[in-house]
Amino acid sequence: MLLAFLFSVALRFIWVYQFHGYAPFYHNGQFMINTNDGYYWAEGARDLLRGENLNPQAENFWDRFHQANDLSPTGTAPAQLTALLAKVLPFSFETIIFYMPAFLGSLIVIPILLIGKELKNLELGFIAALIASVTWSYYNRTMAGYYDTDMLNIVLPLFLLWSIMGAVRSNRSIYLFLVAIDILIYRWWYPQSYSLEFAFFGMILLYALLFDRKNPYNYRLLTIMLLAMMNGPGVVRLALVLLLLFLYTKPRFDRYLFHFLAAALLAFLATGGLSPIWYQLENYVFRDRLKAEEEGLGLHFFTVMQTIREAGHIPFETFANRISGHTVTFVLSLFGYLYLLYRHRLMLFSLPMLGLGFLAYSGGLRFTIYAVPILAFGIAYLIVELSRLLPTRRLRLLSLLALTLLVLFPNYRHIERYKVPTVFNADEVAVLEKLGKIAKPQDYVVAWWDYGYPIRYYADVKTLVDGGKHSGAVNFSVSYILTHPQDEAARLARLEVEQTEKTFDFIQKHKEEIEDKNLTVFSTIEQMTTEHGFRNTNDFLDALKSGAIQLPKKNRDIYLYLPYRMLNIYPTVALFSNLDLMTGRQGKEPVFFTSRNFRKVGEQVLLSNNLVFDLKNLTLQIGKKTVPVRRFVITEYNKEGKLHTKVIPGKSEANFTILYLASHQTFLLVDERTFQSTYIQLGLLEKYDPKLFKPVILTPNAKVYQLRI
Ligand code: MG
Repeated sequence: MLLAFLFSVALRFIWVYQFHGYAPFYHNGQFMINTNDGYYWAEGARDLLRGENLNPQAENFWDRFHQANDLSPTGTAPAQLTALLAKVLPFSFETIIFYMPAFLGSLIVIPILLIGKELKNLELGFIAALIASVTWSYYNRTMAGYYDTDMLNIVLPLFLLWSIMGAVRSNRSIYLFLVAIDILIYRWWYPQSYSLEFAFFGMILLYALLFDRKNPYNYRLLTIMLLAMMNGPGVVRLALVLLLLFLYTKPRFDRYLFHFLAAALLAFLATGGLSPIWYQLENYVFRDRLKAEEEGLGLHFFTVMQTIREAGHIPFETFANRISGHTVTFVLSLFGYLYLLYRHRLMLFSLPMLGLGFLAYSGGLRFTIYAVPILAFGIAYLIVELSRLLPTRRLRLLSLLALTLLVLFPNYRHIERYKVPTVFNADEVAVLEKLGKIAKPQDYVVAWWDYGYPIRYYADVKTLVDGGKHSGAVNFSVSYILTHPQDEAARLARLEVEQTEKTFDFIQKHKEEIEDKNLTVFSTIEQMTTEHGFRNTNDFLDALKSGAIQLPKKNRDIYLYLPYRMLNIYPTVALFSNLDLMTGRQGKEPVFFTSRNFRKVGEQVLLSNNLVFDLKNLTLQIGKKTVPVRRFVITEYNKEGKLHTKVIPGKSEANFTILYLASHQTFLLVDERTFQSTYIQLGLLEKYDPKLFKPVILTPNAKVYQLRI
């Protein structure tokens, strides 16, 4: 176990070695994390460690540790475990969150080896542990810095699988306890674990009914699982589990076997144990009916799914690579797995995990990690069985080694090449920490959702959108603010922030009513539209444009965070507000084209995609067509980071503007609408209206403005 564990951790140090000393990736003398979502858990852990009662009115104990409505996840397991580790270990907070995935993720080798032992085949377990711990997608999601729930999301169900296998094989009481504890911890760590637990439960039920109907142990196992799986506080479920385990030790309670099962089933159903399934059904089957019952404007928002690669279909090769490291390994693993199932029926209980992994083929890349350890068993079994055919012990060992290395090699190559950057660079973090000293925790920072969690972690403020709150409905206003002229943007920012806080208060006050009657809380944009007396969002937005909307009272400060890196995603940002909410029809796509590959030849600049920019006549040649340019803007930062802008006017009626961002070595071609956007005007050119905005921090990497209205 130790050997396999060290191997897994060591390979996770390749990234550390590659970027050792690279200053932009460091903060407080430690590497920063490389997954956006990690900042969510880090925010919760930070608030827990601070340990102040910031919200005495909070109903939930954990919510006292953060400001009301700032969405800090102090009640979640990852935040709590991190805070605990930071408290007891002699390392900095940054060190702990950066290395947690490498060390916790490597724990995967333990249940794999235990399962190997369960199958009385330690070589199988050892080889599978080595392979699974470093295989492509499992590595990607548990590498150093990938601070997210994934670090235990496979470890915990593998422990559960192992204890189920042990339970069914040996019928020993200890496994009843282990199964229950595994479920409790797994649910605590990852509340969505429900579906996998339920699938395991179904497998055991099926097994009991088909092959082992007369064995009381199976019903004990099912009863204890139901108690562990029902809804409600973890302590209550733990207490019930322990009580039942105690009763099981007393033979005089044996005759109540089915009473216990019935009671557990009732408790499971009564606490809404089936409601996740019911909820899914409602969503899929009754969706149309629910839609028709809702009374509202029936707005059509852009869906995030349309822009996230994870959710799309993936090619077979990617799928196979991510699960096994190579297409050939993947196919062989499948054969090995089938053979393993044939020889060791106990492994049938691993089917739910493989099934969940295979959902990735249609449901999104992130599921592939569930199949990694299961197919690692497959290929490891094949290797062990093949080497068995060899005549001498020495040859057998050699073949084990050679074949394992062969399977490991593509994964090692992947790790070596997988040089993911940290989420932010040191300069951006410096801006956010400075902002944190200026802004109060109740203030809002308006920024695209990609930056939500990191902003909240480094600056302890509130955001409108983040890595978990980014539906088309909430993204609409933020997208609108970033991609429209600054006067509209300023007004909408004030309206949206105050409306958001108002909605939080409303939900808080009417919590029970909303739950009981299953009421819909409409989007902020819909609320604003109707509250200002409109039935059409376009009329509301027209009034916003003309300044006819009365702004709410200013209750808090609002800041705009505009990082240079947003340039790469501007067209995506624009999608969310570039549509008619009443019909869902998309607006005309903005012209937005960046070129980092360019060459100056005489008076012409050759941009990528065969665009030629004529500096002398200020024209743009697109294929055979030549169009005039409205203006040519050159920006450059001096050594102190101060921006200098030069504007060369062209044809005033033309639509295109060309920008040369000299310090970033980038040409940018935009239409007039995009040029006038808040992002370009404030974020790139520092052209702000002093009546609306006050610059707070201006650096080449990111700019922060304070709203004046
Ligand atoms: Mg806070």
